[in-house]
Amino acid sequence: MSKSIFILRDPLRCSGCRLCEVACTLKHEGTVWPETSRIRVFELFPGVDVPHTCAQCRDYPCVKACPEGALRVDEKTGAVVVKEEKCTSCGACVRACPGKVMRLHPRTRKAMVCDLCGGEPECVKACESAGYFALRIVPYESVAYKVYSVFPEEVSRRLFETMLGGE
Ligand code: SF4
Ligand code: SF4
Repeated sequence: MSKSIFILRDPLRCSGCRLCEVACTLKHEGTVWPETSRIRVFELFPGVDVPHTCAQCRDYPCVKACPEGALRVDEKTGAVVVKEEKCTSCGACVRACPGKVMRLHPRTRKAMVCDLCGGEPECVKACESAGYFALRIVPYESVAYKVYSVFPEEVSRRLFETMLGGE
């Protein structure tokens, strides 16, 4: 797992343009369909945009929760990969995810999560091309993943407090 990568997200650089969502769905769905984006930008407080995606939890609760063995960890990237033919849409992985990241695809009802595009995430490319650099690829070992394996509401709250000194 030494070469695993992580998409570091910096909400303070995020413009809320959602080009990352567009790039993700073009890659995975062949069309622009934000509902199916594996990275999502939340604006839970006005003007506070938080890109949110899989935290690649070191204990991978979603993988452990799946009773069908439909999820595995990619050895090269560290991403969770879905074997759709094994997924029965039971939702156990969704319930196990501490980040509210794992979802069922709105059409196929199969588990859906960021697969890091095999190591070259399209969302990161889109964000860089647009000049925001809110998303960056870093070695997985350099990240305290627990900071990210929380609900987007919690990320937003922390950021809001940092920005405005609120309670
Ligand atoms: S592309 Fe970058 S700046 Fe735009 S919404 Fe996504 S993370 Fe934010
Ligand atoms: S954030 Fe959710 S989908 Fe990602 S590894 Fe953790 S439990 Fe699985």
